[in-house]
Amino acid sequence: MTHEKCIFCKIISSEIPSTKITENEDVLVIKDIAPKAPIHYLIIPKKHVIDVASLEENDASIASKMIFMAKTLSTDLPDEQSFRLIINNGPQAGQTVFHLHCHFIAGKKMTDF
Ligand code: 5GP
Ligand code: ZN
Repeated sequence: MTHEKCIFCKIISSEIPSTKITENEDVLVIKDIAPKAPIHYLIIPKKHVIDVASLEENDASIASKMIFMAKTLSTDLPDEQSFRLIINNGPQAGQTVFHLHCHFIAGKKMTDF
């Protein structure tokens, strides 16, 4: 189900343009509009789910498909390059777009928490 006011639902339906990296039946990967690292992608499930806390039992495959998409993306990184996955859940954790997404970040040294 899409949410008519949701910016990521609009990106998924191409109402709003984005720089697409790849996609499959369940997940879209785009470049973050304000990258925090040389590689900063957003792994977005095509189903509108607000956040991790809103996932239901029958959404289990969404979570695993997001992680496996990260694995696929990592195969395109230079040899043995590290990457970080971040999912913010709720405003206090820094979530600003309320459609579940995972940040895929690479290309810089990340020693902070
Ligand atoms: P959050 O803060 O919710 O974890 O992450 C939302 C991310 O979405 C931010 O890093 C922000 O830069 C990115 N973002 C917000 N609006 C757009 C947009 O219209 N297009 C793209 N590509 N990224 C967006
Ligand atoms: Zn949405």
